Amino acid sequence: MLRYVICDLCEQNNTEIIQKTEAPFQIVRCKECGLVYVDPQPPRQFMSAHYNEDYYKEWIETQMERRILMWRKRLKRLSKYKKNGCLLDVGFGCGTFLKLAKERGFDVRGTEISEYACQYVKDKLGLDVFYGDLKKARFPEESFDVVTVWHTLEHLPSPSKTLEEIHRILRKDGLLVVAVPNLNNFITRILYFLARWKKLKFFSVKAKELHLYHFSIPTLTAILEKTGFQVKKIDLDLAQIEPSKKIVDVFTRVIYFFSRRNFGEAMKAYAVKARKI
Ligand SMILES: [Zn+2]
Repeated sequence: MLRYVICDLCEQNNTEIIQKTEAPFQIVRCKECGLVYVDPQPPRQFMSAHYNEDYYKEWIETQMERRILMWRKRLKRLSKYKKNGCLLDVGFGCGTFLKLAKERGFDVRGTEISEYACQYVKDKLGLDVFYGDLKKARFPEESFDVVTVWHTLEHLPSPSKTLEEIHRILRKDGLLVVAVPNLNNFITRILYFLARWKKLKFFSVKAKELHLYHFSIPTLTAILEKTGFQVKKIDLDLAQIEPSKKIVDVFTRVIYFFSRRNFGEAMKAYAVKARKI
């Protein structure tokens, strides 16, 4: 069943359409807080069935070596804040990050709504992971030193509900790392337009990535604050895998160097618990 939603950030229902896509789906912006999201949302079964063997095939069969390099960089940045402890990865995909974090000394756990990915990680990597929504895993209160959410929040039906659950299970001095695509990805949009002479779609049921939410730095900060976190830093997330797309990261880095503004494909926030919610 289609799910018509209200704004996950400010809980109002006052939107404008910013892009049309395959009906009935629309990309809307909340006039109250600026959050951009897809309304209505596709059925949950459609979403979880989408992350099947085909979705992961390229990552596992052709991109693995390059992806390991990307994960090593992300892990190295994270290690500046926390070097060990119990780490949970929400939406671990094919598990490469969990495997590397374990090798570096973290005690790792993971949750994933893709049945295929869960089975792959259990069979091939031998990791103890949970298949299903984070809430259903019922982790004890304040049981993790680090929670990571790598490019997962934008796929979820309610990012704020997931962040509230993370707040509950993260220790008082714990670290949350959230990486999401950047709504203001003007470099990608321009390059895409120049290559194809058409606009980049924010959402399509036929696309590989089904992003239900599009965060900017202000809306990512606001949703983290709403759910009881304090943002310590928002970094670039330079993670292009395809050699032909590395140019996006190069432009992102150059423009950031001169303007301190992120017009690249993605961003990552480091946050700590600020208060009880
Ligand atoms: Zn709103």
